[in-house]
Amino acid sequence: MNAFSRRGACPALSAPMQTGDGLLVRLNPVAGGLSPKLLIGLAESALRHGNGIMEVTARGSLQIRGLTAESAALLAAEVDALGIAVRTGVLVETGPLAGIDPQEIADPRPLAERIRVAIEEAGLTQRLGPKVSLVVDGGGQLTLDAVTADVRLEAMRADNGIVWSVSVAGDGPNAKVLAKVDADAARDIAVAALRMVAEKGREAHARDLSERQLVSLAGWLCLTSLPQAPPSVLPDISPSRGEITLSLTVSPISDVVRGKPASKLPISPLEGEMSGRTEGGASRKPIGLFSLAGDIFTLGIGLPYGSMPADNIIALAQSALALGTTEIRLAPSRALLFLGQPADTNQPLQHTAATLGFVTDPADPRTRIAACPGAPACASGHIATRDIAETIAAENADILDFTLHISGCAKGCAHPGPAALTIVGGENGAGLVVNATAKALPAGYRPGYDAARGVSRVAAVIRNARYQGETAAHCLTRLGPAAIAEAYRQAQTEKRK
Ligand code: SF4
Repeated sequence: MNAFSRRGACPALSAPMQTGDGLLVRLNPVAGGLSPKLLIGLAESALRHGNGIMEVTARGSLQIRGLTAESAALLAAEVDALGIAVRTGVLVETGPLAGIDPQEIADPRPLAERIRVAIEEAGLTQRLGPKVSLVVDGGGQLTLDAVTADVRLEAMRADNGIVWSVSVAGDGPNAKVLAKVDADAARDIAVAALRMVAEKGREAHARDLSERQLVSLAGWLCLTSLPQAPPSVLPDISPSRGEITLSLTVSPISDVVRGKPASKLPISPLEGEMSGRTEGGASRKPIGLFSLAGDIFTLGIGLPYGSMPADNIIALAQSALALGTTEIRLAPSRALLFLGQPADTNQPLQHTAATLGFVTDPADPRTRIAACPGAPACASGHIATRDIAETIAAENADILDFTLHISGCAKGCAHPGPAALTIVGGENGAGLVVNATAKALPAGYRPGYDAARGVSRVAAVIRNARYQGETAAHCLTRLGPAAIAEAYRQAQTEKRK
């Protein structure tokens, strides 16, 4: 028996993924955070067994890269030996400050735990694909708005208390809203939605549900609460199939549960980032100081493009330990949150982090760029994403008020959703995609080594064209894809002259 097959070993550790730089493992500590000593131990394992690169993903998961089958088994054994319990089963995410943020609307952890139990009891874990996820967002200083999920439950204040907005298939601004209900009903709709996804197979996601299924999910409470609700209205797509007892306690604020026609549900269209709220930066990044109580703060520090050498993570964790940090939490948007240190040590810790190359300022232009490992780290990569990103961040910080995605190939690992601009590597070089995902057909190309120059040309056009007070994101929208692509290509023409 090896470490992979040991009872209790994490599936993420037991089934590492193949990437261009070897195997990759992803893990989420059950506790949500690690002591500095445990993070140091984990980083030392990553150095011993991987290629020394550690990552925190956009969802706040920890990744260790560059493993072999043998070294991944050794890593799994060391994670066990460190006593780090990792999450298994369907991913049910809560925010990094869940339960300790005085500004949150509701503590999402109890509801998240009840959903985990309900998923297990419904036997859905084995029937759902590994990337199916739920978000239970209690609101507050660090929301999960930017995290895409199959099902989202977001706390809202209503006249009669707290309600949960249930939506599917998207991030905060773009998910399709189904209902606003109490916690019991939110759990039941969430599990019913997952059951529908499971019935479509392990490759399915909530985005694959038909509109009729979504309508039935949203209208279910209305139907079940009618005194003489006909049980056969939606027999083939019944979310519960009689296995889930739905709560009849519903919020009066939901149009759905008031009995309005289901066809008028507020299903939002998919929006690109240019028009989404992520463009305006409404969701705060987990970088900087966040007040917890009185003079108690947590300090957020980002990993540039989500990645750092394990040596640097060890050095930062050692500094944090010396300054009194008791816990380091993983946070979405590729960051770490440091808790427990005295308030007057935050500034020196920030200084150490900046010296080591971490992101300590939420305005750092690197936070506006999503870049996957690309070439040469990933075998699928056609362009050197991180080098291109560094050049653009250094030369064009003034116009980066939108998300720029730099993807080694069309898979788009670093930013699956649409971005205002995407540079994507392919057979034809570095393609430029406007307001779409890396999978879209590029509007123009240039050689991969010269992609940053094309973006600089687009940046120059923005500087010339934008009105006083206009954001670069809005200016891009006004210019339109054709003009942007022309600027990108022009740089190539200029170079040939
Ligand atoms: S987007 Fe392509 S190049 Fe980048 S990490 Fe994913 S598979 Fe590799």
